[in-house]
Amino acid sequence: MTDGPSEDIEALIDLMARLPGLGPRSARRAVLHLIQKRGKLMLPLAQAMQAVGSTARECLNCGNIGTSDICGICDNPKRASGQICVVEDVADLWAMERANVFSGRYHVLGGTLSALDAIGPEDLRIPKLLDRVITEEITEVILALSATIDGQTTAHYIADQLPGVSVTSLAQGVPVGGELDYLDDGTITAALKARRSL
Ligand SMILES: [Zn+2]
Repeated sequence: MTDGPSEDIEALIDLMARLPGLGPRSARRAVLHLIQKRGKLMLPLAQAMQAVGSTARECLNCGNIGTSDICGICDNPKRASGQICVVEDVADLWAMERANVFSGRYHVLGGTLSALDAIGPEDLRIPKLLDRVITEEITEVILALSATIDGQTTAHYIADQLPGVSVTSLAQGVPVGGELDYLDDGTITAALKARRSL
């Protein structure tokens, strides 16, 4: 029997290995790094995680993650009303915000329709989106969804539910099968500007 890390350290490694993009090997290296930078990194990180862990919540209106019931974007009177940009997940919303090209509000679906995974409109924030279009008097819905089959199926479903509203979709620049979060800011900007009617 070999003596590896102690039980507590192994438990931490196991937890870290569940993070997206981290396997057991990189989790092990990350934990080792954290322990070596205990005062400068590990303890501040633990405190920050505790703080965010107790305050983070989904915006009741759009699904963005923030620290209040209504997020800063929904709550900001300077954001243009009348336009909603629909994204699959919060990472996509944050990617759009980083590109700094859209001044309206957002709606996070929480995924895409998928026949394979039996995900229907009620499993996503689609009913809430349809409500918002009416209550917020939305004139344009911009669909910033992945150029995957499920993403495009979702786009066409939403467009069908919104007769009389201008529904546009990100255009050139989004690679086939591409996910928004992985695009650079310039590509997102070009795709938004060149959006087309659906
Ligand atoms: Zn919000």
